[in-house]
Amino acid sequence: MKMYDLIQKKKEGKALTAEEIAFFVDGYTDGSIPDYQASAFLMAVCFRGMTDEETAVLTEKMMHSGDVLDLSRFGDRSVDKHSTGGVGDKTTLIVAPIAAACGAVVAKMTGRGLGHTGGTMDKMESVSGMRTTLSPEEFYENAEKLGICVVGQNKALAPADGKMYALRDVTATVESIPLIAASIMSKKLAAGAKNIVLDVKCGKGAFMKTTEDAEALARAMVTIGTRLGRRVRAVITDMSTPLGTAIGNSLEVKEAVEVLRGGGDERLRAIALELSSHMLALSLGIPSDEGKSLAEKAIASGKAFSKMKEWFSAQGGDTGMLEDSSLLPEAKEQTLIFAEEDGYLCEMDALLVGTAAGALGAGRKTKEDQVDHGAGIFLLKQWGDKVKKGEAIARLYATDKEKLADGKRLFSSAVRYEKKKPAALPLIYKIIS
Ligand code: URA
Repeated sequence: MKMYDLIQKKKEGKALTAEEIAFFVDGYTDGSIPDYQASAFLMAVCFRGMTDEETAVLTEKMMHSGDVLDLSRFGDRSVDKHSTGGVGDKTTLIVAPIAAACGAVVAKMTGRGLGHTGGTMDKMESVSGMRTTLSPEEFYENAEKLGICVVGQNKALAPADGKMYALRDVTATVESIPLIAASIMSKKLAAGAKNIVLDVKCGKGAFMKTTEDAEALARAMVTIGTRLGRRVRAVITDMSTPLGTAIGNSLEVKEAVEVLRGGGDERLRAIALELSSHMLALSLGIPSDEGKSLAEKAIASGKAFSKMKEWFSAQGGDTGMLEDSSLLPEAKEQTLIFAEEDGYLCEMDALLVGTAAGALGAGRKTKEDQVDHGAGIFLLKQWGDKVKKGEAIARLYATDKEKLADGKRLFSSAVRYEKKKPAALPLIYKIIS
C-alpha cells in the first residue's frame, strides 16, 4: 500500500477501506508516513469528507493507537461529559458532583484551556493543593470510593490524535466534521466510560458557528460512539454569549459553587441541569425528566455540594476555598467597564470576551504559558439587559496594568448596544440521541 494512492483516492472523493485507514493511522503515528503526505491527505478529507463508516473506522484506529482505560468495574454507571469548548463553561465542575451524588460514576479526564476557551483542569487547579495528576491506582480508588475523580488528559490515550491535531492546527485542516468527530471521540472512547454526554457548542464562541454544523458534528459523534458500543447523547447549546457571569479560572469555580449551593446564573443552572439529566438518564437507565428531578434534589439537599468538597479533598484541594470563595485567588489589578450608551446589551460576543479573558491572563497562547488563576471577567450585566450610560457592566481582573489595558480594549469591542430589546437568546437547540 502506498500513501500516495490513498491521497489520490481521497482527492477523487472515493471512500477508503478499513485497511487503508489503518495504514494511514499506523504509519502516521509510527513516523513512517511524513507530515507532508499526512497534510495532503487531511486536506483531501477536508474537501471530500468521509462516510460514517470511514469516520467510525478512523476513530477506532485512533482510539487504539495508545492505552484504553478499563472502567468495566463500574458496570453501566460510568459516565463522561465532554464540551466542544466554550467561554465561561464551568459545567463539568457542576455536573460531575451532581451525577456522582446521584449514583453515577464520573471517572474522567479533562483538558487545559487553549485559545479563547477555558479548560476544567486550570479551573480545578485554582483551588490550592488540587492535584490533577494521580496514579492509576488512586484514580480508580477515588472513583470507586466517591463516584468521582477528574484528572488531566493522559498523553498515552489516543496518541494518534495528539500528533494529527498538532498537524491540523498548522495546516488549516481543523475545520472538518469527520476529523473533529474522530478526534474528540477517539479520546472519549479511549477514556473508557460506558455513557457519554456531549455538549456541542454553537455560535460565535464555538468551533461550530451554525446550528446545522453543530447538528452534523453531534450526529457524527453519536453515530461513532453508538457503533462502538457506548450510549451517547448530544445536547446542542448556545455559545454566542458567555455561559454564566464568570470567565476565568477561580471566578468560574466560585460561580460553580453558587450553582451547587442552589443559586447562580439562570442559564448556567439550566444547562447544568439539562446535562446532568442526560448523564443520569444514560448511567442509571431512567427517563431524563427523572434525571433532572434527581439532579435538582441533589442540589437542594446539599448532597451535590458535599460531593464536590469530597472530590476536591480527595485530590488534595483546599475545601476551605470552596466553603468561603473569598479565599480563592483574585488578581490584584482590577477595573470596571461602563456602558457607553443607554439601551440594551444586544451583543456580548463570546469569542471576543474569551479572547479578552485570555489577554487578562486567564488563558494561554501556547501550551507552555502559565495561567493566572485569579484573572478574568465578571459580568455585571449580560446579553439582553437594559443599561444606562455610565453604569458598570463588568469587572476585569488582571495580574498587571498592561494586561488589564489589553483586556479592557478587547472586552469593549465585544459589546454592542441597541435601543430595542433583543429577542431572547436560545439556550438549548436540540438533543441528539
Ligand atoms: N477538539 C478536539 O479535541 N479535536 C478537534 O478536532 C477539535 C476540537
